[in-house]
Amino acid sequence: MKQILHIGDNLNIDLDNEQWVCGKCDHNIGPASENVKYGLLVKERDPTEIHQPLISGEYNFAPNPDWIRILEFYCPQCGLQVETEYLPPGHPITNTTEIDLLSLKSRLASGELLLEAGHLKLNEGKA
Ligand SMILES: [Zn+2]
Repeated sequence: MKQILHIGDNLNIDLDNEQWVCGKCDHNIGPASENVKYGLLVKERDPTEIHQPLISGEYNFAPNPDWIRILEFYCPQCGLQVETEYLPPGHPITNTTEIDLLSLKSRLASGELLLEAGHLKLNEGKA
């Protein structure tokens, strides 16, 4: 049986193949040892589209596009939005999810951790 770990609502790791996979269509996004965002489609959004001004004038409570950009990441196969990131313009994409696969797989193999319906659980009998 395939070992799938849920990382978020829209993202999984196939532990057998050590690959990121889309949570909706199971598309192989790329090696789980790398930044998942490298395998996703990215769209830069104008922050004022998402956080529209609340009042008119210079200070309107909307983010200034000169100071912040919003990046949306999508599955290249089904288009599911996997992640969103707010960054200053020019800042490189960050790596927000890094899993120690070697340790995780070792702890699963030893029985210390259990994988149930995609979620990790401490094996109380082994503690
Ligand atoms: Zn997908």
